[in-house]
Amino acid sequence: MSSLRVLLTAEQIQARIQELAAQIDRDYPAGPIYLVGILKGACIFLADLARSMNTPARLEFVGISSYGRGRTSSGEVKLTKDLDVSVEGHHVIVVEDIVDSGITLSYLIQLFQQRRPKSLRVATLLDKPDRRQRTVQVDYVGFHIPDEFVVGYGLDFAEDYRNLRDVCVLSE
Ligand code: 5GP
Repeated sequence: MSSLRVLLTAEQIQARIQELAAQIDRDYPAGPIYLVGILKGACIFLADLARSMNTPARLEFVGISSYGRGRTSSGEVKLTKDLDVSVEGHHVIVVEDIVDSGITLSYLIQLFQQRRPKSLRVATLLDKPDRRQRTVQVDYVGFHIPDEFVVGYGLDFAEDYRNLRDVCVLSE
């Protein structure tokens, strides 16, 4: 039997998103910014972040698959859905649900740099710094969390739990 323990409440998450959005508004006084969400986990964070910002934002999504993934990345990342537009000359913020080993993000940063944006930054709701295998700069971090497997607020386990309002630790 698996069990869920609340790690971050919906209220904590929403309050932190307001702070991150205010920081982004200060950093980008003029828009538009392309917010590029990583499907599927980042879609809920991206939707709330975008609506909390005043800076005009355009929403884009990319799809990623990581072979052999159970609860951790396998280290092999593949793009399954690319951007629909060119972001050349535009501000881009990559929006992630969680940065764990950093493998997904380092792949995406390399990919987007080739598209020659005006600027490229990264926002993540959650960061597990203890598990980092690749050095990646994350500019906006919602919460640093311990090395536990979490679900909810977009994050899944075998596609379940994504629509939980809280972020919870899943234990079996
Ligand atoms: P990384 O490439 O940084 O190791 O992995 C990032 C991806 O792994 C995240 O976008 C997410 O899909 C998945 N991931 C890493 N840690 C967790 C976790 O605790 N819970 C869930 N649901 N997914 C995770």
